[in-house]
Amino acid sequence: MSITADYLGMGLRLDELDGENVAYFKHCAEHSFHLQQCDDCKLKRYPPTTACPWCMSREAKWVPVEGKGAVHSYTEVHHAIQPAFKAHTPYLILLVDLDTQKGKPTTEEALRVVGNLVTPDGKLAPPDLVRTVGIGTRVRMVFSDVSPGLSLPQWAIDESATQPDKPWRYPQE
Ligand SMILES: [Zn+2]
Repeated sequence: MSITADYLGMGLRLDELDGENVAYFKHCAEHSFHLQQCDDCKLKRYPPTTACPWCMSREAKWVPVEGKGAVHSYTEVHHAIQPAFKAHTPYLILLVDLDTQKGKPTTEEALRVVGNLVTPDGKLAPPDLVRTVGIGTRVRMVFSDVSPGLSLPQWAIDESATQPDKPWRYPQE
């Protein structure tokens, strides 16, 4: 069944033909993070795909994955290309190295999940919070409810984790 929703005034639609993404977001709607695990090589993968990027097998199962990790890289957006985000600039797009499957299949390739920095209640983070986050910041996944049937997996600072003294940020301030 397709998923439709309104996010910040934008229409979002996931067609039922996009089976992998519909399955992924069905778990997200239950605030549960699941990824596909290959039946053959046993590696988990992100983003959802039809075949395993490591061994090409089409057989996989959805398994629960802990939404914890560290910021691998980030983009701080000051000029919103999409008008819906204009009121929320600057905002962060984070690429997060999951603790799960870290360093596999190689040290350069691991499970890295994209999301925005949000507050613990799932709202896009305000500028004073954006300034505190950089490469190395420990984050945990939270789900932002968009509408019934659609929640976005996002990232909040992990208050229970030991944080780096000074996460790396672009030298712009
Ligand atoms: Zn595989």
